[in-house]
Amino acid sequence: MTTLNSISGRAGSLGQFDPQALPVSAAQAIVLQWVTPLAQSERVPLRDALARVLAKDVISPIDVPAHDNSAMDGYAFDGASLLAQAAPAGATLTLKVAGKAFAGHPYTGAIAPGACVRIMTGAPMPAGYDTVVPQERVEHGVGAEAAAGPVSSTVSEAVTFRADAVTPGANRRRKGEDLARGSAALRAGRVLRASDIGLMASLGIVDVAVKRRLRVAFFSTGDELRSPGEPLDAGCIYDSNRYTLGAMLQRLNAEPIDLGRVRDDPESLAATLKAAAESADVVLTSGGVSVGEADFTRTQLQTLGDVSFWGLAMRPGRPLAFGRIWSGGRPGAGRAALLFGLPGNPVATMVAFYQIVRPALIAMSGATPQPMPLIPARCDAPIKKRPGRTEFQRGVAERDAQGQWRVAPTGSQSSGALSTMSEANCFIVLAHESADLDAGDTVDIMLFDGLV
Ligand code: AMP
Ligand code: MG
Repeated sequence: MTTLNSISGRAGSLGQFDPQALPVSAAQAIVLQWVTPLAQSERVPLRDALARVLAKDVISPIDVPAHDNSAMDGYAFDGASLLAQAAPAGATLTLKVAGKAFAGHPYTGAIAPGACVRIMTGAPMPAGYDTVVPQERVEHGVGAEAAAGPVSSTVSEAVTFRADAVTPGANRRRKGEDLARGSAALRAGRVLRASDIGLMASLGIVDVAVKRRLRVAFFSTGDELRSPGEPLDAGCIYDSNRYTLGAMLQRLNAEPIDLGRVRDDPESLAATLKAAAESADVVLTSGGVSVGEADFTRTQLQTLGDVSFWGLAMRPGRPLAFGRIWSGGRPGAGRAALLFGLPGNPVATMVAFYQIVRPALIAMSGATPQPMPLIPARCDAPIKKRPGRTEFQRGVAERDAQGQWRVAPTGSQSSGALSTMSEANCFIVLAHESADLDAGDTVDIMLFDGLV
């Protein structure tokens, strides 16, 4: 079969890319070619379905609404016949009130053509009646004060209103208007939101088929790393990447498998990679892919699988390893997992995750990919930018008094300064070809948070 190196290198169907200057869009496309969406699904109760990926279309088993009903508090009557009869402008209609209909308590009495039924919002339309005149539009006959009061009080004996106050069919919600029985309420591939859970509940659905969660193993490499809670020895730093990776995976609703820290030694690395491929769909490593360190990582990854080393035309996050590894220790042996070797610098790890790994995980989880929206914003400061790579700078964006988005880059853009990721609320996305920018120029921003 085609190897990753041939795809990313000279002869690939995606063009003549130099793996050491691979545009972000090309890397994203190559990665997506290697993704197979999960096949397995499971049924979960509605309450556990939030953020899960719908495995099958949800077909509505009922009409919503289940019956024609009133959109207003008022009086239901036969508008089709009575309004046509009351043709002269300004004519009035006086209708005897035959009874009441409440939501959950339909009017079951006889229907007389010249009568009406006091009706409340959501109550089923009495059969044969098609129109509701709102209660604000009527004058009451005997018992008028009661009809305007609480729904449980006595009704008026008659109501009078101008015939031009309503048109035939007004203020009636039709059966199946929101969703017709047998139609698709939600499509497979949807990442379920709160409204979707409510929608399924409104259809009487108790449980739902969702894709199983994607299992993603991850670990940090580096002899200098210590875990929070351990003393910080001379020359050492705390491992933050394992925590950002775990948290980013949680936000994607993947199943994170934390394999801890691995020392910079070939045997430990090989053993951890094999164990990871045994249990996970995807394996993420951080560190050890930059020049200087890459050699022994490269040897290990290429022994265990089919992995290419890229120098992405991206900043931060230039070095990246991508491919497949096998639990049996050589290509084709045992279970395969997709591998992303992310750079060690904390901001680079996050940027590479968001831009390269995240779209792949979304596609692999069976979800329909939704590109992150870019919003044009006025940049408050000049930015130095070299054409030929995509940059993801950290920015703080807000809308000004005129409703325009404006953004300021955070002070440091160092790929080690994790505090700036916390300070920022967006990426300033500087396109591959773009050059230096002046203050006041328009840039694209990608907000960190979506609403739902
Ligand atoms: P590397 O890619 O392994 O050369 O690492 C690049 C830089 O990122 C070095 O300064 C590392 O100390 C740092 N680094 C690597 N892994 C981590 C980690 N898990 N947490 C925090 N910093 C890290
Ligand atoms: Mg390292």
